[in-house]
Amino acid sequence: MTGPRRFFVRTFGCQMNEHDSERIAGLLAAEGMVPTTDPDAADVVVLNTCCIRENADDKLYGHLGHLKSLKARRPDLQIAVGGCLAQKDRDLIQSRAPHVDVVFGTHNLAAAPGLLDRARREGPVLEIVEEHEAYPSALPARREVDHSAWVTIQIGCDNSCTFCIVPSVRGAEVSRRTGDIVHEVETLAADGVTEVTLLGQNVNSYGRDLGAGQYRPQFADLLRAVDAVEGIRRVRYTSPHPKDLRPETIAAMAECPSVCEHLHLPLQAGSDRVLAAMHRGYTAERYLARLAEARAGIPDLAVTTDIIVAFPGETEAEFAETLAVAEAAGYDSAYTFIFSPRPGTPAAGMTDAFVAPDVAADRMRRLTEVVERSALARHQDRIGRPEEVLVEGPSKKDPSRVSGRTRQNKLVHFAATGAAARPGSYVTVEITGAAPHWLRGDLVDVVAAAPRRIPVTAA
Ligand code: SF4
Repeated sequence: MTGPRRFFVRTFGCQMNEHDSERIAGLLAAEGMVPTTDPDAADVVVLNTCCIRENADDKLYGHLGHLKSLKARRPDLQIAVGGCLAQKDRDLIQSRAPHVDVVFGTHNLAAAPGLLDRARREGPVLEIVEEHEAYPSALPARREVDHSAWVTIQIGCDNSCTFCIVPSVRGAEVSRRTGDIVHEVETLAADGVTEVTLLGQNVNSYGRDLGAGQYRPQFADLLRAVDAVEGIRRVRYTSPHPKDLRPETIAAMAECPSVCEHLHLPLQAGSDRVLAAMHRGYTAERYLARLAEARAGIPDLAVTTDIIVAFPGETEAEFAETLAVAEAAGYDSAYTFIFSPRPGTPAAGMTDAFVAPDVAADRMRRLTEVVERSALARHQDRIGRPEEVLVEGPSKKDPSRVSGRTRQNKLVHFAATGAAARPGSYVTVEITGAAPHWLRGDLVDVVAAAPRRIPVTAA
């Protein structure tokens, strides 16, 4: 078959990985390749792996098993594995799956096209580096969405949470220069992007490693600088660490019109003993005090969180403390996880203290009830209010309706046609109904219509 080679990128894991995948897609497109949504039709399949989520290895090797039979039928197919699991497992991947052509790590994704070329000439290639070569944001991207973009502000993490593999696979914290970030946001705005999400493992410690001895930018300064970029209507960020949430950040969130009223503040546990065993660096009281300061400083703030249930050694009384903190925090939503060991982390070695699966499942159910109760109450409070919604596209459950996000990052479903239904448009919706995970509403008007994108076809 002639024509450009086709690539397919499958992403596992977090937003940081999705962002990296956009960069991998951009790099391959810059080489003249075209994307396909069908892995069976691809000439190159890239699996961008994650070792943070549960059963990451099983998922990866399951996919590689399927690709093995595809490659047996089409020997020209190239398979590349990148991301955290590749950084961690290295040559283990090629020894378990010798049909993999390229393994690259989290620090050298810019090298992916060159490695694929090399593998075509020389056979399987493994290249993992320890230091980052370029920030993902500094590489060309092929964004899935025209109006929204992620911008890396920092990579790595200097903390040592005992359940987390990030420090060992992403390395120490390195902040990107403010000027480079602002320049990227300006370029995105000129390209029609109106919403940016600033990405880092611990955004609140942004700048700590910059400007030694002189002016040292803080995360709050960065928020103000990005807010000043013309054309950007919404700025989001993820994730801050509760121990580093400073009053300056709260003030910047309150004062910058484009910074959304949404704070994702990972709690992880409500027991001080468990928090200490996790190396989180705060107590439940300190967490709630920071949260209260944020709510007092930022009107109409939505707060979301991450909570791990059944960390090794967690007793019933300690879990009850988590329930109490979740009640007191009144979350808008929460990502709740049952603890699962990540090989290579300190918590994975606490096998004697693992909580029985049935106990963990019961705790998860009780925590979900608490979170859903507060989410529903907070959502019901919004009924009757007009909300600014950024349209995402047809609703996944009911394609006759449209879905979008409020500034508080709440999913809203409503009926719309024309410009009001176009992804990237900003509309006003009056909220008429609420559930724990979404809102329903009636379209009021269009605030700013997204431009029509005319598909480009090759001559
Ligand atoms: S702050 Fe903790 S959980 Fe977050 S990336 Fe760093 S080590 Fe992992």
